[in-house]
Amino acid sequence: MAQFKDKNILVIGGSRGIGAAIVSRLAQEGGKVAFTYAGSTDAAAALAAKTGAEAVQSDAADRGAVIDVVRSRGALDVLVVNAGALVLGDPLELDADAVDRMIDINVRAPYHAAVEAARQMADGGRIVVIGSVNGDRMPFAGGAAYALTKSALQGMARGLARDLGPRGITVNVVQPGPVDTDMNPADGPMSDFMHGFMAIQRHGKAEEVAGMVAYLAGPEAGFVTGAMHTIDGGFGA
Ligand code: NDP
Repeated sequence: MAQFKDKNILVIGGSRGIGAAIVSRLAQEGGKVAFTYAGSTDAAAALAAKTGAEAVQSDAADRGAVIDVVRSRGALDVLVVNAGALVLGDPLELDADAVDRMIDINVRAPYHAAVEAARQMADGGRIVVIGSVNGDRMPFAGGAAYALTKSALQGMARGLARDLGPRGITVNVVQPGPVDTDMNPADGPMSDFMHGFMAIQRHGKAEEVAGMVAYLAGPEAGFVTGAMHTIDGGFGA
């Protein structure tokens, strides 16, 4: 299990939840992993101590900071963009600044991080972005802005796959359904409602998503690009 031995890896948004599981998995498989975080200093320090990964404080809502942190890592073999915000509610009532900040984190950061990574990335590199099944299906009210951000990643991946394909760099989106994290706890008030849409009626585990990311970031996935990979217990089926 050393498919990432000595690989230079950056995970944007890795201190908690799905991102932390991705950091753990890629480090466990030999990767030289760095991850960013915004506010969760204690969680980031604990994860760094446990995995040997390097924690870097950097706000994904700040375009300049995103570009700087990617550039500072040199020639990446793997970039994973996981940081995400979730703002739900009646679009007529939602705070416009909160919606725009979500768009900054969920859309602008992945785009600028991917483009900046591509400047130095060696041939055969891997770019994986965490989207959502809500990019394909938004079956309840109040999710328009979040769904917008996750659908946007689909177009980005399709387009960048064309731009970077000649260099053997792949660009893929992983689209989870409900996964048990701080953002969407399995014991939260929305759980039964969400399970009602699913074929496998439970929350996913962050480690299950990390397994899919490890495949897409690894050497076996060199022919997989410009594609959406849904892992959602059948939420979108
Ligand atoms: P969590 O809220 O549990 O964790 C989010 C992670 O992203 C934290 O490490 C957080 O770091 C980091 N992050 C958030 N904002 C920023 C920022 N501005 N700058 C840097 N890092 C940031 O979320 P999940 O693990 O649940 O979600 C991860 C991804 O998966 C997101 O893109 C989300 O949209 C997507 N997703 C999640 C689903 C779910 O059901 N959980 C379902 C479908 C998709 P810090 O705490 O330091 O700010």
